[in-house]
Amino acid sequence: MREKERIERARREMVDLIRRRGVRDERVLQAMLEVPRHLFVPLHLREMAYDDTPLSIGSGQTISQPYIVALMTEALMLDGTEKVLEIGTGSGYQTTILSRLCRWVYTVERLPELSKRAQESLKGLGCRNVSFKVGDGTLGWSEHAPYQAIMVTAGAPKVPEPLITQLAVGGRLVIPVGSQSHQELLRITKENDKGKLRRESLGGCIFVRLIGEEGWN
Ligand code: SAH
Repeated sequence: MREKERIERARREMVDLIRRRGVRDERVLQAMLEVPRHLFVPLHLREMAYDDTPLSIGSGQTISQPYIVALMTEALMLDGTEKVLEIGTGSGYQTTILSRLCRWVYTVERLPELSKRAQESLKGLGCRNVSFKVGDGTLGWSEHAPYQAIMVTAGAPKVPEPLITQLAVGGRLVIPVGSQSHQELLRITKENDKGKLRRESLGGCIFVRLIGEEGWN
């Protein structure tokens, strides 16, 4: 019981910090208050699960920093009706947050072992509105397009063209773009059916590499 209270307090403090850093979307904050992040990190790092920092999840990959998860999720402006495409399933933490805020999540991960573990984590939480795919997410997932929102959780050298194609009119794509050591977080909105795009910067960030045909080699 003690342990449970300690975890819940740590999670509340994490969300308070995210709020202080400027995230306002109450649905996003509520989802982060409810999803047990400690179940998505390796056992030996559980003590740090609610610190505002990325953590190693094995295979050279990381679970994103909570503030960045909140910032990116808020930027998608979800109202619960959307089909969302996520590239980089990783631990499945971001996937779980998204699944609570939209209708269906399609998530793509290139490393089979990470996808498998994420599928088990989500199943354990009773999360059912998610479809998983192992493959190169820089090509998107065309079968289910168009998507009202797309989130890429790995750093890209440029915006992959297939993701723009698979974005619905009025849809938002959030993606870190830049060098291997530093990226700019971008929100790209498809403004009309002629393909007019609006580009906004949400600030600097550091992600692991997006590896694939339309990403890094
Ligand atoms: N959202 C994740 C963060 C994972 S880190 C979380 O909350 O845990 C980024 C992930 O992107 C890694 O798991 C990496 O293997 C994956 N990745 C990199 N390139 C990819 C690609 N082309 N397609 C799909 N996944 C990719």
